[in-house]
Formats: sequence, C-alpha cells, structure tokens
Amino acid sequence: MSAIDLRPDACLIDGEWRAGERWLDVHNPADNRLIARVPALGARETQEAIAAAARALPGWAALPASARADALMRYHDLILAHRDELACILTAEQGKPLAEARGEIGYAASFISWFAAEAMRAYGEIIPATQADRRIMVIKQPVGVVAAITPWNFPAAMITRKLAPALAAGCTIVIKPAEQTPLTAFALGALALAAGIPAGVVNIVTGDPVAIGGVLTASPTVRKLSFTGSTRTGALLYAQCAPTVKKLSLELGGNAPFIVFDDADMAAAVEGAIIAKFRNGGQTCVCANRFYVQDGIHDRFVEAFAAAAAALTIGPGDAPDTKIGPLVDDAAVAKVTALIADAKAKGAVPVGPQRSPTGRFVPPMILSGAAAGMRMLEEEIFGPVAPVVRFTDEAEVIGLANAAPDGLAAYIFTRDLGRSWRMAEALEVGMVGVNTGAISTEVAPFGGIKMSGLGREGSRHGLDDYLELKTMTVAL
Ligand code: ADP
Repeated sequence: MSAIDLRPDACLIDGEWRAGERWLDVHNPADNRLIARVPALGARETQEAIAAAARALPGWAALPASARADALMRYHDLILAHRDELACILTAEQGKPLAEARGEIGYAASFISWFAAEAMRAYGEIIPATQADRRIMVIKQPVGVVAAITPWNFPAAMITRKLAPALAAGCTIVIKPAEQTPLTAFALGALALAAGIPAGVVNIVTGDPVAIGGVLTASPTVRKLSFTGSTRTGALLYAQCAPTVKKLSLELGGNAPFIVFDDADMAAAVEGAIIAKFRNGGQTCVCANRFYVQDGIHDRFVEAFAAAAAALTIGPGDAPDTKIGPLVDDAAVAKVTALIADAKAKGAVPVGPQRSPTGRFVPPMILSGAAAGMRMLEEEIFGPVAPVVRFTDEAEVIGLANAAPDGLAAYIFTRDLGRSWRMAEALEVGMVGVNTGAISTEVAPFGGIKMSGLGREGSRHGLDDYLELKTMTVAL
C-alpha cells in the first residue's frame, strides 16, 4: 500500500540500513521455512550504534516535548496505516494467529500515542524550602542513551513499550530484538524513519546476543538498559550493568497463579482462563501458569475449562480459524513436552479427549491432580498446558501462590468483594486480574516484584523510568 519498504532485512544504524558479512537465518515457526537472512552484527557495529545514538541525543533531547510528541504521533499513525502488513510479518516470524498479530500491532501503537501525550506532562516541582532565602526546584531530564533488549513473544509491543517512553522523554535508543523475530523490528525501524524521527534516534542491531549485550551493558555511554525476557538472562544483564551503574528496567518471568473460588462466576472464570492461558499459545510472561481451584467448584470448572480448550483450533497463524499457532521453536516444544512428561510421571492426569502434538503444534492440555514437586508448577511453561491444583481455603491458596520466587501477575475469580481485596493485597505480584484474564493495557503500570523484575512499563509511571530528577537549590 505504500512506498515504504517494510522488509529492509538490514540493521538500522544512524539512519542507514546496514548489511552484514555474516547472517542469521529467520524461520517461520509453523513450517520451519527460511523466510529471511538478517545481519549477524557484533561488537564493532554495536559500538557504532551507541555512538550514533549519543550523537543524536542532544538534538532530540533539546526539542520541545510537543515536537517529539508530533513525531511520535506521525509514527503511531504510520504503524496503524500499515497494520495488516506488519501483522503478516509478525505472524510469519513469530507464529501467532493473524488476529492476535493485528491486536499486537494496535497494542504496540497504543504505547506510542500514550507516551506522545505523556511527553508533554513531564512536569517538575517547586519544593517549599527550609530556609527563607532558598528556593528548590526539580526538573526532569532524559537519562540519555538507552539500550533495549527484547523478546520474541511480542516482537512489536515489547519494542514500542520501551522505545515510546524513551523517545518521549528525549532519550535515544539502541534496540536488540530477539534473533527469532528481527523482521518486525526492522519494519518498525523503517516506519520510524518514514515518520521523520531523526537518524540515530532509533538504532536496531541484530546478531550474537552475548556480543551485542556485552557491549551495550559495558558501555559507559549507555545510561539505561530496559530488558524483557527470561529471569536467567535478566539477572545476568543486571550483573553486567553493575560496573557502570546503569538504570535498569527488567521485565522477567512470571509464574502466574489463576485462582478460582467456589463462589466464582463459572462462565467468567472459564473465559478468563482461556484468555489468560492460551493467548499467544501460552507464550506470554503473564500467562496463567498454575491453576488453583477450590474444592466445591473444582470438578465442574475443570470439565468446562477442558471443553472450552478442546474447541480451540490449532494451526498456522495465517489460517483463518486458528486460535493457537505453533510454539516458537523446537526448544520450546522440547521444554513443554518434558514438563508434561514430568507432571504425568508424578501423577497428573490429562482431562478430556487428547489431541497429539505434531511438529511445533502442541494442542491445549488441562492436567488435573497437579501437586507440589511437579516442575510445571515451579517453572514457566510457555505453552498451552494448564496444571490444576485443588485447594480448600484462602490461607492455603495464598501460601501456595506466594511460594513462587516470581511475582508478576495473578488472577482471582470470586464474587465476594471482601475476598477479592484480601487476596489482591496478599498476593505478592505486580498485577492482579480480578474476574478477568486480560490485564495488559498501555494506561496501567505493567511489571513485577520479587524475581519478576524492576520498574514499570506503560502508564504515567512508565515515563519516569526514562527520566532523571535534577534538583536546583537557589540562594536568593
Ligand atoms: P528466551 O529464553 O525466552 O528466548 P531470553 O531471555 O534468552 O529469553 O531472550 C530475551 C532476549 O534476550 C533476546 O533478545 C535474546 O537474544 C537476549 N539475550 C539472551 N541472552 C543474552 C545475553 N547473554 N546477553 C544479552 N542478551 C541476551
């Protein structure tokens, strides 16, 4: 529909498309077809990208916030104008159903319009001083050059959730997308240039994560790292950022409990469970990982949940009826298969008729009789498998839920208002869905506590992670 080339298949450094001497292969997860080769860049090019971001910083930061907001809104509009093309690129490299990919592009764009508006509200403060001849002011300034390392499960939204507040605040950015999903990142880069965002403000490098991540974290020029991915990698990057004392946002793994009480609205609980468990084939950090269902509703819930899951069509993301696409790669299939075998060996039982996995297509599975000691209650499954644990009372389920070292999201289903408050306050997580399985929106803070990370993305708080406070004390 446009003259903008959304498939440059090259990295973006200082406004120029950069090819490589070596290449990374990108495959379609549905059929393992080679769909692109992208540059395998390394330390040298990463340094160049950081230098470009540093050169672009003063000019970008000096613009009035309204000018940055205008550029972001042009970018937002271009993304939505190319929504279908972007969704096709995303589904081809990531696998999710096209409808979900279109949804993700809308979600990705929403961060840009949200932070375009927030850019204009980065107010400072005047503080009453303790001495008559003093005045104290606080201004907010961009942190500087930002590095973003992003995962494959939301190839568009996890980039814009970092890029939008960074650019709104006046920062410039170097992005390293996941090796499985660089093409959506490049398309977003092409649209940033087309929107008139100056060269060097947005840079994208692909290649060996260890080499690129090593340079990004070691660089004294990079003042902040924003990372979304596994807890293991996040903790490693946290340590790597220590010598240069960078600001950090870490959005790491979750192990979300999904808790259904006897008094729950059954239809709402099943609908919530389907959304929270099977969106993106179970491959999101806020996916329900462990189901805790109270005695009195347990059997009816398990049966209804299994029936609803059995109705979900599995297939390639670009087939019209698909509700669950392939898992992202063979390693993901191997992990999910191993977790199922472990749970079955320890006594968990699949509910309802079973479909067999083929290739990367893993059918939904509800396992009843899950119990402590099964790996899938302790690790992120990242696949369409739901272990169900029976419980008796509130105190017991709070103990079970909070036993996890992670603390990202939790879901509770109850009609009792008092219980919903007690539970929400007691659960050690950053986000609680009460009678809903859908909690992600650009207007609300997203992030976790405990080992699920640091900082919040989205919402008015999301801008603060890209701003420094500066205090000015004036003697009259
Ligand atoms: P997953 O296991 O889901 O792929 P990762 O945490 O490994 O999650 O990946 C998330 C992002 O982190 C990806 O962009 C990946 O390339 C990157 N990454 C992985 N290992 C490192 C590393 N040692 N240094 C920097 N980035 C890394």
